Amino acid sequence: MTYTAPAMQSDEPGGQWGATRAECVPFGVNPQVDFPHPKGVVLKPSSIDERFPSAGRGLWSHVPETDWNDWRWQLRNRITTLEALEALMPLTPAEREGVSQAGRHLAMAITPYFFNLIDINDPHCPIRRQVIPRVEEMVAAPWEMADPCGEDEHMPVPGLVHRYPDRVLFLVTDRCAAYCRYCTRSRVVSGAGEQRLHTEFTDAINYIREHTEVRDVLLSGGDPLLFSDERLEVVLRELRAIKHVEFLRIGTRIPIFLPQRITPELCAMLRKYHPLWMSIHSNHPKEATHEVREACGRLADAGIPLGNQSVLLLGVNDNAAVMKELVHKLLMMRVRPYYIYQCDPVKGTHHLRTSVRKGVEIMEALRGHTTGYAVPQYVIDAPGGGGKVPISPEYVLAHDKQRVIIRNYEGKVFEYPELSDVSAPMKLGQGVPPSPKETGVEPALKSCHTTDKGNGHRRQTLD
Ligand code: SF4
Repeated sequence: MTYTAPAMQSDEPGGQWGATRAECVPFGVNPQVDFPHPKGVVLKPSSIDERFPSAGRGLWSHVPETDWNDWRWQLRNRITTLEALEALMPLTPAEREGVSQAGRHLAMAITPYFFNLIDINDPHCPIRRQVIPRVEEMVAAPWEMADPCGEDEHMPVPGLVHRYPDRVLFLVTDRCAAYCRYCTRSRVVSGAGEQRLHTEFTDAINYIREHTEVRDVLLSGGDPLLFSDERLEVVLRELRAIKHVEFLRIGTRIPIFLPQRITPELCAMLRKYHPLWMSIHSNHPKEATHEVREACGRLADAGIPLGNQSVLLLGVNDNAAVMKELVHKLLMMRVRPYYIYQCDPVKGTHHLRTSVRKGVEIMEALRGHTTGYAVPQYVIDAPGGGGKVPISPEYVLAHDKQRVIIRNYEGKVFEYPELSDVSAPMKLGQGVPPSPKETGVEPALKSCHTTDKGNGHRRQTLD
């Protein structure tokens, strides 16, 4: 099977992506909010417990309960070969080819627990797309990169990325419980890619100790929770002993791939190193199982604030109904939706990426339409190392010295009186803002046109 990457697009007015001028309209000015679920699923009222079914035992019902709940058993029994996977489920030709070549790029590994979430009869299953390699991975589009976030250029010590002034990223391992096919660090993660990670622990900790501006350390990898409790505690203890380190974070997908790892003993150890926060990584509501909810509950009970990072993925969560269900389930698990990442242009991920416009459309369907705590920040990690750039629908339609013209989540337009940054004592009668004619805001309003949505609401949107 062959796959040809799409050609780089033209350099017309829209830049390298080839957008025409007509397509360069502000994001989200004509909001559509009723997005159907891709599989026509309609959520019925149900209790919180019913919303979190167990992943079940599936083909491992013969395995003793103690083994199944043992995270080391889960790791030992991961599915890592084509033969093992084909013995469990039928593969498409694109998957068979992808799995057979994965060892050259990013290894395949799937825990038995996570495998049970795959619909083996659905080639488009959103869980399957995340962890089963496909032949498309073997082809890099011209603009895709091995290190899209420019981490290697900001590594003063092997394994330590210092890109932002006051915080560092500490890559403590290159191994994960399972491997995401879109991984930003696929160049090093799993040990099959084009580079190797050789973290210098002593040098990295010395660097942090010497750099008093570093107040925030994010442990990531790979997945730090693959370390034994003892090994992880050594790292946390060293970092906590550094006076200027205010804040520790762990980035992990273990609660999703391997919730059995979140043992009471791990939580008891972690709670000694507060303030310690954790970012988990969940992309689809199906991942929010009974087991994951219990694991997150143990972490939350240990006083660890939990945030979630999702990656926007074609055929996985590029749908507002799916994303809304995910963020609601996260809140029920005491996890705050934190980021939706536009998928980084990593080599071999073209088939998993979706448009930025789609991401904005999803944000438009969330903001104002659900609890504010449920609305994450949508970001693009600027290629080449520019850091996270927030992307959102446009809510400010016009702005001058006197007024800000804004629209709300329904598309209704409002004015807010702008104030001068230079505060001067106000005299009696001075508080009345000038009329739109006097301020020149009227032309801005005129450039908005009114549309009738057929529901009695008239609404103004930008031309
Ligand atoms: S868990 Fe994180 S580091 Fe590991 S493969 Fe997935 S995205 Fe990459």
